[in-house]
Amino acid sequence: MAIIEILKKCATDYDIVISDDLAEKLEIYGRLLKEWNEKINLTAIKDDEGIAIKHFLDCLLVSKVADFKDGMNVIDVGTGAGFPGLVIAAAYPNVNVTLLDSTGKKLKAVENMAEEMGIKNVKIVHSRAEDAGKMPEFREQYDFATARAVAELRVLLEYTLPFVKKNGSFLSLKAAIAKEEIDGATKALQALGGKVDGLNEFTLPGGDKRVIINIKKISQTSPKYPRPSAQIAKKPL
Ligand code: SAM
Repeated sequence: MAIIEILKKCATDYDIVISDDLAEKLEIYGRLLKEWNEKINLTAIKDDEGIAIKHFLDCLLVSKVADFKDGMNVIDVGTGAGFPGLVIAAAYPNVNVTLLDSTGKKLKAVENMAEEMGIKNVKIVHSRAEDAGKMPEFREQYDFATARAVAELRVLLEYTLPFVKKNGSFLSLKAAIAKEEIDGATKALQALGGKVDGLNEFTLPGGDKRVIINIKKISQTSPKYPRPSAQIAKKPL
């Protein structure tokens, strides 16, 4: 079965509708992902079923947690091959999505794939999160930040919360039940102005567990944060 057939079949169990427009875009994405993967190391998941379930469906699960409205701004931090940001942009053509990563060659592939998919609502930013988070152009400009498979939660919070507007949210897509990570992030949440606002658990077809942690930004982040990379690595909050 091709990627889109697998996705459509599975998505109904989660009440996720794959419109014709989205199916068309994701079909191109799936094909190009495989092509780019032969040139550069974009993603370890290369088979049709994996792409359909562990990439596309997994990323679309954010739509069960977030109410993305037209005109909103979303930033995907450490987007890699475009997950979840490019999938969100494909599903919500009227939401402005910034795809940020520190690896230029991955972004080159993402830019090409977005163009081929006919996606107009993405902006690609080559930067470390700690650097972009200091810039007025990006700081506290976003309704939502997302991140999948980038870092442990307390580090991720320092990368992402500076981008989020007050009352906006950071959605952290995690592979396992993340309670321990949340316990370890108490200090970071307090320092950066965040509060855990819900844990959303899912089981993918095949049995893998996923959790999306919804972290609400309840107060502005101090200009002290984000700190330089070396400090974050040496002394996470
Ligand atoms: N989010 C994608 C996914 O789920 O498939 C990619 C995950 S990949 C394991 C982690 C990505 O985060 C890499 O592309 C890496 O370059 C990026 N990354 C790690 N630390 C970063 C930072 N501080 N700022 C920007 N990007 C970062």
